[in-house]
Amino acid sequence: MKFLKGTRLYSSLTGTCPVCQKTYMYEEHNAYKLSKTLLLKERCDHCFLKFNMEPSFFFGAMYVSYSLGVALAVATFIIVFFFLGIKDKLYILLSITGVLIVLMPIIQRLSRNIWLNIFIGYDRRKANNTREENLMENPPMMTKK
Ligand SMILES: [Zn+2]
Repeated sequence: MKFLKGTRLYSSLTGTCPVCQKTYMYEEHNAYKLSKTLLLKERCDHCFLKFNMEPSFFFGAMYVSYSLGVALAVATFIIVFFFLGIKDKLYILLSITGVLIVLMPIIQRLSRNIWLNIFIGYDRRKANNTREENLMENPPMMTKK
């Protein structure tokens, strides 16, 4: 995947910060820990990008999620119907439902990554800066914790 580094596709697929691509956006690496699937870090540790830019920012990821779900359902149908030769509508419906349920955490994360990468792109300068240079340049506002 190294050859994609510096592209939005790399950040979308790996779940790394869209600006520097050096840190992981989520608190938990494993998407299947369901209580933490969508738990984002507050900011990037390297470039200090605020991931949840504004309240409800990730509602828009539902559009991406919907299109990913439809694409996956069509792909499942093609595999089940044409490659596995299963013609029973009930089994086709069950396999599409099963695939969508099993892959739900991955679809959720992928759609958030894609949604964020639509708005924010890679910044080579910030990626090559040290953490301290980024901190001097763009100090995060102090927040009460
Ligand atoms: Zn970053």
